[in-house]
Amino acid sequence: MKLDVPTLAFVTSLIFSTQTVAVFVQYRVNKTYSGLGWWLAGAICQAVGFMLMLTLNFRSIWMLSILGNPLVFCGQMFLFVGIRKFLGKKGNEWPALVLLAIFTASYLYFVVLDNSIFGRSLVVGGSAVVTSMLIAFTIFRAEKRHFSGSANFTAFVFLAYGCIQTMMTAVTLALPRLLFYQDFSETPIRTIAFIIPIVGSMLWTFGFIIMVNQRLNAKNLEEKGKIQELAHQLEIERNAAQLNAVTDSLTGLSNRRYLDESLKTEFYRLKRSGAPLSLIMMDVDHFKNFNDTYGHLAGDNCLRQLGAVLRIVVGRLHDIVARYGGEEFVVIMPETEKRGAEILAERIRKGVEELAIPHSASDAANHVTVSLGVVTARAADLAEPENLIALADEALYLAKQGGRNRVETARAPPEGLTSPIS
Ligand code: GH3
Ligand code: MG
Ligand code: MG
Repeated sequence: MKLDVPTLAFVTSLIFSTQTVAVFVQYRVNKTYSGLGWWLAGAICQAVGFMLMLTLNFRSIWMLSILGNPLVFCGQMFLFVGIRKFLGKKGNEWPALVLLAIFTASYLYFVVLDNSIFGRSLVVGGSAVVTSMLIAFTIFRAEKRHFSGSANFTAFVFLAYGCIQTMMTAVTLALPRLLFYQDFSETPIRTIAFIIPIVGSMLWTFGFIIMVNQRLNAKNLEEKGKIQELAHQLEIERNAAQLNAVTDSLTGLSNRRYLDESLKTEFYRLKRSGAPLSLIMMDVDHFKNFNDTYGHLAGDNCLRQLGAVLRIVVGRLHDIVARYGGEEFVVIMPETEKRGAEILAERIRKGVEELAIPHSASDAANHVTVSLGVVTARAADLAEPENLIALADEALYLAKQGGRNRVETARAPPEGLTSPIS
C-alpha cells in the first residue's frame, strides 16, 4: 500500500469521522454534563477539516486555506472549551476566541498577503501545540475527585501530543524541502505527521469517553450511597417511632397500649395451652400526699425510681412490665404459678422499701411504700383478659384496706367472670 499524502489524508478524515460518531453517541446518551456538545462540535470540525485536505488532490490550496485549516483550529478550540465546561470552569470563553482569531488571521495572512508555506506550517503546528498544552494544563489543574484516573490519562495524551507536535514542527521548519506541499510522495516524516493526529485523537477521544463514564459511575455510586443512607435513617426513625408508640416516656417501661395488646395476646395463647397466667397490679401508697408534700417533680422522680426497681426485680424475658396509669404499674407473668407471682410481688414491695424515699405524709411508713394485688388464673377459666385486671384490682383494694405496704392475692374467680366454656 502506498502511503502518499492523499491516502493519509483520506484515512485521517475517516478516523476523525468515526470518532465524531463515537462522541455523538456519547452526547446523545449522556446529557448529564456540559461540554459534550462542544466536543462533538470539535470532532465534527476536525473531521471536516481533514476531509478538506483531500482537495489538495486538485492542486488547490484555497479550499484548505479558507476552510480546512481554520476548521481544524476551530475544532481544537471547541475541544478546549468543551473540556473547560466539563470540568465546571466558570468565566467566559473569550481567550479561546481570541486564540482562534489569531490562528485564523495569521494563517490567512500567510496565504493571501505573504504566500509563505513556512509561516503557514508554523501557524498550523503552533496552534496544535498551544491548544493541546492548554487542554493538558486545564485538566491537570482542575478539581476531578471522582474521575482523576481517566482525566489524568487524557491530560497526558494532550501533553504528549503537544510535545510531539513541537518536535514535528521544529523538524518540518528545519528541513525546508518538506514544506513543498505540491509534492505528495511518501516520506517517513509525512507519514508520521499524519499518524500523530490519528493516534493522538483516538487516544483523547477514548480518554473523553472513559472520563464521562467514570464520572457518571462515581455519581451513581454516590447517589446509591445517599439513598442507602437515607433508607437506613428512615429505618432508625421508624424503629424509634415504633418504640415510642409502646414506651412510657416517664419511666421507660412499656405503656398502657402495649400492656393491653400483650395481655390479650398472652391470654388467648394460654387459653389454648392451659398454662397459668399471673398478673400483679401495684399502686403507690398515699401518692397524692407525696406530691402535695414534695411537689410533682419529686413525684415524677419517685415514679422513675419505682420503674427501675420493677425492671431490676422482674428479670424474666417473657414477663411484661408496664405503667398502667398515673402511679399504677402492672406486671404480666405468663406461665407463672401463684406462688411464683406472690414471691415476685413481695420482692417488688421490698425493693421499693429499700429505696427508702422519704414520705412524711404517709400513714403506712415514713418512706414511700407500695401495695400490690396478685392474681393467678388459667386463661381458660376466664371470659376475657380484662377479668384478670379486675381481679388484681380487687386484690390491690384488699391490700389498701389491710393497711397498705403489703401484697394480697385474689381469691378464686367469682361466678360471672368465668368463661361460658369452662
Ligand atoms: P392510695 O394509697 O389510696 O393509693 O392513695 P393515693 O394518694 O396514692 O391515691 P391515688 O392512687 O388515687 O392517687 C393518685 C395520685 O397519683 C394522684 C396524682 O397526684 C398522682 N399521680 C398520678 N400520675 C402522676 C404522675 O405522672 N406524676 C406525679 N408526680 N403524680 C402522679
Ligand atoms: Mg392509684
Ligand atoms: Mg396510690
